[in-house]
This record gives sequence, C-alpha cells and structure tokens, in this order.
Amino acid sequence: MPRILLVEDNPENYDMLSRRLERKGYEVLLATDGQQAIDQTQQQHPDLILMDIGLPVLDGCEATQRIRGLPEVSGIPILALTAHAMEGDRQRILSAGCDDYHSKPVDLKQLLEQMKTLLARSGAPAAEPSDGS
Ligand code: MN
Repeated sequence: MPRILLVEDNPENYDMLSRRLERKGYEVLLATDGQQAIDQTQQQHPDLILMDIGLPVLDGCEATQRIRGLPEVSGIPILALTAHAMEGDRQRILSAGCDDYHSKPVDLKQLLEQMKTLLARSGAPAAEPSDGS
C-alpha cells in the first residue's frame, strides 16, 4: 500500500482528504506544519508527499527545499497543493523542487491521476481501492 504524507494545516481539509485517500487504498500520514513535514519525511520515508503551500512555521516551498537537501529522502516525489494557481506561484513551487502541483479546491479524480503518475515514476506500489473504483 503506498504511504502518503499529507501536509495540511486546515483540519477540515485533512480530515476530508485523508478519508478519501484511504478509501482509494492509500495509507495516509499527517503533518500540520512545514517543520513536521520535514521530520515526518525523515522518520517515515513516505512514497509521496502532498504538500500544502500555505503552512505555519515553514511554508510548503521552504519545507520542500529542505527535503530536497536531505540525501536519504531527496528523491521522494512532492506534489504541491496550492490555493494560489497564479503563474508566479507556480514557478516558485516548481523551482522549490516540487514535481507537480494541484490547485485547491481538490479535484479528487485529477489529484489521483497526478499521484499515480508520480508514484509510477518512482516505482512505488499501486493503490488498491477499497471502494471498488
Ligand atoms: Mn494551508
């Protein structure tokens, strides 16, 4: 089962998204600020990180840059979740080291496709949905 680190500071967002991802066959770990994202990444070695950009302590770009500087975890795919889909932010997100980004509100179907692509690229196991989809 692929292990996803969901980095999200809004409880409503992480409750909903983690439940939906679990139904789709993912194990979901949670971090609620940028420093926790780095610590959890080092301790848990997730298969993929879903990284909110607007976060307390360190924002998602800063956390991503630091993860990219840690050799044991630097290859983990990072998919940014952003409320700001503006061109400038997109550049900032990609140059911080994120592999891809997804604009909130989350479109689950599209997000799952983006996750699948990144996981396949890194050779992680495929998810087995429990909801028959
Ligand atoms: Mn946020």
